[in-house]
Amino acid sequence: MLKIIIVPNPILNQKTEKVKKIDSEVLALIPQMIEACRNAQGIGLAAPQVGRSIRLCIINLEHLGVAPFALINPKITKKSWRKEEMEEGCLSLPGIYGIVRRPKTIKVKALNPEGQESEIEADGLLSRVIQHEVDHLDGILITSKFIRITDGRETKKRKEENL
Ligand code: ZN
Repeated sequence: MLKIIIVPNPILNQKTEKVKKIDSEVLALIPQMIEACRNAQGIGLAAPQVGRSIRLCIINLEHLGVAPFALINPKITKKSWRKEEMEEGCLSLPGIYGIVRRPKTIKVKALNPEGQESEIEADGLLSRVIQHEVDHLDGILITSKFIRITDGRETKKRKEENL
């Protein structure tokens, strides 16, 4: 099982490098990241959180009926003018929660493990988690975006009620 890196660790503050080739190493990493994320009851995980400074993340919204998937070299191409405030936590920041303001909907372009490029439009929790993970790939942690610190109640409730 991959170990999830927690703060403080400089890799979490570094901008990652683009995946140049989707080789067997990258392909092997994806299911391992999904497993580590699932095990930690997370909804997303970025490669630097498992010690790899590459532009790769996985999204795990299984509880919403979405199969876990990987985004390789993701790029947010459009952000809605409308913003939304939501409590966020992070597997690399155990016990720390806060409100983050982000665009409500986004468009993101990325490669899938087969190397095909697609662009998806995301709203709600999917939009939120993708933006959080893409921030990780740019070396940005939520602590720098908190508009206020919270107690994690909203996140716990979301998990309990499977929202
Ligand atoms: Zn995180």
